Amino acid sequence: MNKVEPKNVFSRTENVHSMKSVLILSGGIDSSTLLYYLLDKGYDVHVLTFDYGQKHSKEIGHSKIIAEKAKSRGKVEHRVVDISSIHELISAGALTSDESIPKAFYSEEVQRRTIVPNRNMIMLSIAVGYAVKIGANEVYYAAHKSDYSIYPDCRKEFVKALDAAVYLANLWTPVEVKAPFADMTKDEIVKLGLELKVPYELTWSCYEGKERPCLSCGTCLERTEAFLLNNARDPLLSDEEWERGVEIYRKMKEEHERTDK
Ligand SMILES: [Zn+2]
Repeated sequence: MNKVEPKNVFSRTENVHSMKSVLILSGGIDSSTLLYYLLDKGYDVHVLTFDYGQKHSKEIGHSKIIAEKAKSRGKVEHRVVDISSIHELISAGALTSDESIPKAFYSEEVQRRTIVPNRNMIMLSIAVGYAVKIGANEVYYAAHKSDYSIYPDCRKEFVKALDAAVYLANLWTPVEVKAPFADMTKDEIVKLGLELKVPYELTWSCYEGKERPCLSCGTCLERTEAFLLNNARDPLLSDEEWERGVEIYRKMKEEHERTDK
């Protein structure tokens, strides 16, 4: 298959560039770090959080708090976009359907069960339309390397192809789709975020919508690992929770490695 290389076909006009950007914020670590990263670079950030019918609205609440907090670093506008009416059409994975959230370290099988079909494509497509409307030239989302193996819409190939399609669809008002963390692992993102002093205590990752993080779902384990690799502790957790989280992580990691062989 021929690769789509729009930049070789049409050259984008650099001089129309604005410092307005659109960012998709979930309320988790990756997109919150990206928000602070963009503000650090001097961007005005128009933040969109999607309510796509996730089981719990906890992360939406956290995204509101983070966007509000980030206003101390620059210009931030936040909107929650309700696309929950499509819930019935796309509810297939454990994040939106009645299927339970897998309690295990991320493996291909477990991770596959948390796919919401075409979610990023749908959200990015709406974000691009919004970008055109407000005159922003860039749409950002926090796809990263650790998600590659399973979530196909986090891969660089997807970002590149979507960027090409978005360009062709909006020739007179060029918008770029960017995933600057695409080559970074979760712990590298946390490293950057710690440098940028991202208020991680306000972020939410757990797939369970409970009062406190469950500490044992794939995303909780991944979060614990990312802080551990940075010799830091997760400021969202109490001392007791952090210790328990590390213990669960070590146990599950061992199990995961044993069964993976
Ligand atoms: Zn959890």
